[in-house]
Amino acid sequence: MSDAYKIIDHTYDAVVVGAGGSGLRAVMECAQNGLKTACITKVFPTRSHTVAAQGGIAASLGNMGPDHWTWHMFDTVKGSDWLGDQDAIEYMVREAPAAVYELEHAGMPFSRTDEGRIYQRPFGGMMQNMGEGPPAQRTCAAADRTGHAMLHTLYQQSLRYDADFYVEYFALDLIMENGQCRGVVALCMEDGSIHRFRSHNTVLATGGYGRCYFSATSAHTCTGDGGGMVLRAGLPLQDMEFVQFHPTGIYGAGVLITEGARGEGGYLTNSEGERFMERYAPSAKDLASRDVVSRSMAMEMREGRGVGKNGDHIFLHLDHIDPKVLHERLPGITETGKIFAGVDLTRQPLPVTPTVHYNMGGIPTNFHGEVVNLVDGNPDTVVPGLFAVGEAACVSVHGANRLGSNSLIDLVVFGRATGKRIADICKPNTTHNPLPKGSEELSLTRLDTFRNASGSIPTAEIRGQMQRTMQKHCAVFRDNALLTEGQSLMKNIYGQIADVAINDRSLIWNTDLIETLELDNLAAQAVVTIDSAANRKESRGAHVNEDHPDRDDANWMKHTITTFTGWGGVGGATAIDYRPVHDYTLTDDVEYIKPKKRVY
Ligand SMILES: Cc1cc2nc3c(=O)[nH]c(=O)nc-3n(C[C@H](O)[C@H](O)[C@H](O)COP(=O)(O)OP(=O)(O)OC[C@H]3O[C@@H](n4cnc5c(N)ncnc54)[C@H](O)[C@@H]3O)c2cc1C
Repeated sequence: MSDAYKIIDHTYDAVVVGAGGSGLRAVMECAQNGLKTACITKVFPTRSHTVAAQGGIAASLGNMGPDHWTWHMFDTVKGSDWLGDQDAIEYMVREAPAAVYELEHAGMPFSRTDEGRIYQRPFGGMMQNMGEGPPAQRTCAAADRTGHAMLHTLYQQSLRYDADFYVEYFALDLIMENGQCRGVVALCMEDGSIHRFRSHNTVLATGGYGRCYFSATSAHTCTGDGGGMVLRAGLPLQDMEFVQFHPTGIYGAGVLITEGARGEGGYLTNSEGERFMERYAPSAKDLASRDVVSRSMAMEMREGRGVGKNGDHIFLHLDHIDPKVLHERLPGITETGKIFAGVDLTRQPLPVTPTVHYNMGGIPTNFHGEVVNLVDGNPDTVVPGLFAVGEAACVSVHGANRLGSNSLIDLVVFGRATGKRIADICKPNTTHNPLPKGSEELSLTRLDTFRNASGSIPTAEIRGQMQRTMQKHCAVFRDNALLTEGQSLMKNIYGQIADVAINDRSLIWNTDLIETLELDNLAAQAVVTIDSAANRKESRGAHVNEDHPDRDDANWMKHTITTFTGWGGVGGATAIDYRPVHDYTLTDDVEYIKPKKRVY
């Protein structure tokens, strides 16, 4: 197999796959510590999905009212519906202010208060006084283009250091040897050459897999390639049943309208003009957490109070807000509203509907970014040489439901933590053992099989079936029958990949091939997601099973870890196990936050 392809070898202390916020921050930390570092990315770094983040990044700076890291911690634990690991959450919220100041000093153009401090807006589920309220202004923003400002800042900074960028290289598979990660193999999309990276440390920062759904706010590149590689390495993914629907995707287009819109005073109404969130979340109202708002919207539509001739959307009002404020604080969505909904926000309400937005689940790690697995009864066994950060990872700080603006902070806090860990355990230029024989085989066999696939079903056809199935069977409301039917449909769809039709056999910018490799990653994760969802017989955070409407802490306060066993078109099979939720904090400065009923 390898004879047919040109293989170029590289050797590094650390290789980071992904150049979004989390990947770039990890690259910076590794390079700064003198490690020989590479960053592999399938898109130009500043085109990573982080660029699209709008509303902001959470940190208890207290610039615009009282705040404290323990309040941020409480809100994150409650938001996670007690599925988050409290040691990791404590780590994140305590590191958050320093991480934001670091971005500020690196030149990130935050919006400012009159005193010149970083501007902070209210966001869903972010409260003062250990959840008691009023809302905390905790979300640091650069207008409604925070991700754009942050990603460009990080990319510019990362160029200061001596890291090598492999841009428009597509990572295919990990190189594993006796349970240890030895590196990764990538395809240069421009000339078809194969690059084998031997590395002491490999970091997966490949982002989410939102594109296994039909309507998603995420970029078309969010195909969960890191998760796919991990599954092929025989390792599990964690808590994949928890998929976040953002309440305000533009109806039809799926484009995001930031929660910051409600943070600045926007509100939702049904077909009767009623501000219905007051009924579902009397205290937080439109700023309840995302799972709660999305479900309330779905209930309104179900009960016949949806807007439009099909009653299938809801109105978001910003028309009462001073146009000057809209212009200054929400210029991006004002423009988006015009382009994608033909609506002038200063006069008309915007049609919105809950849209897939974020994957709480992912590659299980500890708060150092080290990938962990359940081995011989130890749920925290580290997989040597392998790390994961950002949306691809499940640390788990977001548990069953992420709070808005807690992802951007997760990226920089854990990107840095991962780099620091690597620097702690690896001295620059440590000698390498030779790679195992055939280390490129897994990658090349898969690549070659798809490249020469002469089946009967086009990639787009299989992808469309997957997306529609997930959208229908694994959405905001689930029940046993819907999930069981969805499981068998998804297995069947996965099986169709064995009969995929590829027309382009070349290796130069072969998008047909790349999209098929991405589909293979997506479909495996769709199967894992729906199997994990069908398995969890309770309702928690973003996972609601109407046959089991309550949270069941006695039986289900545990992380699902799911491996995929059905490769090669055998109609994907999975195996499910569990890891305990960490019911302890990192230090004695704060007590374990005990579970209670989650009301907003
Ligand atoms: C529209 C939108 C708005 C959002 N707004 C906010 C917000 O205001 N606040 C907030 O906290 N969160 C927000 N989020 C969530 C947050 O932006 C994302 O979770 C986060 O940016 C993900 O960052 P990441 O570093 O994990 O990966 P990404 O930014 O998604 O980057 C993934 C990287 O991996 C690379 N990659 C992937 N696969 C491969 C492969 N096979 N080979 C090589 N490279 C690969 C890509 O090239 C890319 O560089 C928003 C999300 C969306 C979609």
